Amino acid sequence: MDLRATLTPVFEDRFGTIPPIIVRAPGRVNIIGEHTDYNDGFVLPMAIDRAVWIALRRRRDRQVTVHSLDYSESTTFSLDRLRSAGKGWSEYLRGVAWALQTAGYALAGWEGVMVGDVPVGSGLSSSAATELAAARAFASVSDLEWEAVTMARLCQKAENEWVGVNCGIMDQMVSAAARAGHTLFLDCRSLTFEHIPIPADLSVVVLDTATRRGLVDSAYNERRAQCETTAHFFGVHALRDVDKHTFEARASELDPLTCRRARHVISENDRVTQAVVALRDGDAATLGAILDTSHASLRDDFEVSCQALNIMVDISRLAPGCFGARMTGAGFGGCAVAIVHAEKIQEFASHVARKYAQQTGLTPNIYICQAAEGAGPLLSSS
Ligand code: ADP
Ligand code: MG
Repeated sequence: MDLRATLTPVFEDRFGTIPPIIVRAPGRVNIIGEHTDYNDGFVLPMAIDRAVWIALRRRRDRQVTVHSLDYSESTTFSLDRLRSAGKGWSEYLRGVAWALQTAGYALAGWEGVMVGDVPVGSGLSSSAATELAAARAFASVSDLEWEAVTMARLCQKAENEWVGVNCGIMDQMVSAAARAGHTLFLDCRSLTFEHIPIPADLSVVVLDTATRRGLVDSAYNERRAQCETTAHFFGVHALRDVDKHTFEARASELDPLTCRRARHVISENDRVTQAVVALRDGDAATLGAILDTSHASLRDDFEVSCQALNIMVDISRLAPGCFGARMTGAGFGGCAVAIVHAEKIQEFASHVARKYAQQTGLTPNIYICQAAEGAGPLLSSS
């Protein structure tokens, strides 16, 4: 949603003028390519039409003062004495300032108001949206050139090292570099990317199961270690470097569990490239079938799904207009994603909401998403 109308009056109240700069950065959903990022593989996310927005103006000194409408709280810090103030939303701003300054950028101070509509902790990466919005704010007042890959890397560094969350590069890359109406086909090793258009008759729907699980971190670390062991076995840097034929020729030498884990990653990389072809051809049926296979692989080989996700995916597939569905994100709860015929979207959503509630007793959140533009500045007058 366009949140300019929310920000502008608050900015005017506080600063007595309309905001000279407004920036926004979107959240994202990953259409396919799960657990491939840390294997140097391929992913196909898209930015969604939910974002973090900041209205701001430059300050003459090196202070940053931001009021968050979502948290009803203000924060102030100096760019000369950056230190953590504990936990909370403002650490993302400090972390981005720290990462940019560490990389040698000369930053100016600013003051402003921020608000967002990316649901927090739902797997749509409100954290990357917050980081990229902050980076855009600093870039605007400090006259920095916007180089999407550099900015994404620095925002990832902020999240890894300042906030202390061990995330990959996908979320920041898509929030920084996405194009409206397109998915982002990203090579997580080289960080080269291509914008692949989404056919107008397809809708991407995020289905939040309303379940979360605490064991995600340990399971994630275990999967990463298993992938590294197998890459080592094949004598390569990452599983990205093992193709299907090389894998199959030696699969019997691996123990069954390690074998299944690797099979997911290797086959998932292939599915991403197949999904890109299907999208380019406007072949929704094939794209949907690829999503279905991805889910089975995540459920049976990588074993990161859960009952709620499996129920959500099964219901979605049988719902009106659905071409395919799978879990998305790290797993064990959170969201599924479905590709649905645009004309059937309301019917699809109400069917899934009703059936999922009947079968689980839970109320799902359903987000019908448009593929949005990556982080950018907007003039308040535009
Ligand atoms: P997600 O899966 O949504 O990325 P994270 O736990 O990684 O969840 O990041 C969520 C955090 O990002 C929030 O707790 C908050 O600190 C910050 N954040 C998200 N949205 C906003 C917002 N609109 N305004 C300020 N901070 C935000
Ligand atoms: Mg996050």
